[in-house]
Amino acid sequence: MTSGRPVVLVIEDEPPIRKFLRASLEAQGFSVEEAESGERGLAMAANRRPEAIVLDLGLPDVDGVEVIVRLREWSRVPIVVLSARTQEGDKIRALDAGADDYVVKPFGVGELLARLRVAMRHAAIVDGTSAATSIEAGNLKIDLTARRVMVSGKEVHLTPTEYRLLAELAKHSGKVLTQRHLLKEVWGPGYADRPHYLRIYMANLRAKLEADPARPQRLQTETGVGYRLSLDAN
Ligand code: CA
Repeated sequence: MTSGRPVVLVIEDEPPIRKFLRASLEAQGFSVEEAESGERGLAMAANRRPEAIVLDLGLPDVDGVEVIVRLREWSRVPIVVLSARTQEGDKIRALDAGADDYVVKPFGVGELLARLRVAMRHAAIVDGTSAATSIEAGNLKIDLTARRVMVSGKEVHLTPTEYRLLAELAKHSGKVLTQRHLLKEVWGPGYADRPHYLRIYMANLRAKLEADPARPQRLQTETGVGYRLSLDAN
């Protein structure tokens, strides 16, 4: 591709969905490559080096989660998963394997594009500033060097655990993190089966950081999956 358009690789076995994705993504200025199976997708990811991948979890040859595992052995390319399944388990397995986000079929193209943009923006931040010293989301500012948190310019005091939880969400802001990921990163490997810790500490954080903790705008719950820090909240 010499067009300079960012390349999105679509790995999806259903032709109508590939066609829909191609039309939608091209209309938004992306260049689209298509693969109809997992093995072909893996080969194309290596050859074409796309800027992002849209991956269907239900593929005829290889399980979508296995595709993610194999991609993550050598690539940090943003991956947004298409899940036709209603089970929370598949989304969680995909995220734990290294997917950046997911949308559930049937999805709106606006939702997919939003997820894709966040994932690509995050990848660019990670590549560009591996030593980011502060993170901003709306009126929330986190100074990672001084471990200080400000809301609208006013410092908010957090406990060490509250801070670690917020910092982990902020490092991946816009992206959904699974309960298991957060428990492991914030509390440690032995705590993956204690989601009630998370519920308690998320409630504390919301009370300190949200204008209306009962209707959180910034610290969002992804029901049955995990949590995300929204970049768009004010
Ligand atoms: Ca499929």
